[in-house]
Amino acid sequence: MIGINKPGMATAAGFGTYELFQLMRDGKPRTRADLAAITGLARSTVALRIDSLTELGLVTPVAYASSTGGRPSARIAFNPTARIVAAADFGATHATIAITDLAASTLAEIRTPLDIGTGPEEVLSCLCETITKLLEQIGRDAIDLVAVGIGLPGPVEHRTGRPSKPPLMRGWDGFDVPGRVQQAFPVPVLVDNDVNIMALGERSTAWPDTDHMIFVKVATGIGSGIISGGQLQRGADGTAGDIGHISVSRGAGIACSCGNMGCLEAVASGPAIAAALRASGEQIETISDLIAQAGEGNLSVIQAVRQAGRDIGEVLNACVSIVNP
Ligand SMILES: [Zn+2]
Repeated sequence: MIGINKPGMATAAGFGTYELFQLMRDGKPRTRADLAAITGLARSTVALRIDSLTELGLVTPVAYASSTGGRPSARIAFNPTARIVAAADFGATHATIAITDLAASTLAEIRTPLDIGTGPEEVLSCLCETITKLLEQIGRDAIDLVAVGIGLPGPVEHRTGRPSKPPLMRGWDGFDVPGRVQQAFPVPVLVDNDVNIMALGERSTAWPDTDHMIFVKVATGIGSGIISGGQLQRGADGTAGDIGHISVSRGAGIACSCGNMGCLEAVASGPAIAAALRASGEQIETISDLIAQAGEGNLSVIQAVRQAGRDIGEVLNACVSIVNP
């Protein structure tokens, strides 16, 4: 992505420049001798790889190692501020757009209401304008941008970055999201389902040693990200983990936005709970109303939320048998 060898191009020793960079992303300063010891590479090979990474600005010399009597050895560490990344999380009704450094520290961020149903042209134009605004805000140039990452609230064919029959996103099916963004920013644009990205983020920040997990998001839709054997499972068309459209016993006769009947999402998502409560006379318009009234102790709201939890549990019970997280 940043001009360094990808894993498939690693050397016979298994430690190409890419692997060395991944190793150094933990931020610990190390000497060339440390790196040779960890990787099993010859010191001359380590030096060559470090030179390439230094040229790209991705690693940089830092303070000296304590001397053991001989000449002090220069230590090298990951340089997270060298380049920047733009990240966008689109929900059904809102967006969060941010610029981060290479260690994922947020440098600037905007949260804004945005209806994903207005279609890809409008939403992605807004994204590109916002990235430009944020770059100005932090005084960085678009040339420093190394990639754009986008999470969408529906299934995405990760290989092409095209949404795959997303039920909540009218007009997005098959749209070339990377192509549109690259008109403004000619860098790699990685697109995935928002829950998959959340699962990867949750694992890398909170559960780095966990190889089997299911991450569940309940909002306007319901979805999950499945990590099995240490790998995110996307499935053939990017719809693996789309648990919102598994039918549940309480859903009989209830229509879902996907066109089927009885889906989990049709009974246990935020809007579904709110609609059922409205039908029984409660004054609830939005998910925020729902959360507020549950917090205030409104009994019928609490019961409805608990029931949604049981519905989600019914589906997760099956998921646990299949995936064994
Ligand atoms: Zn459905």
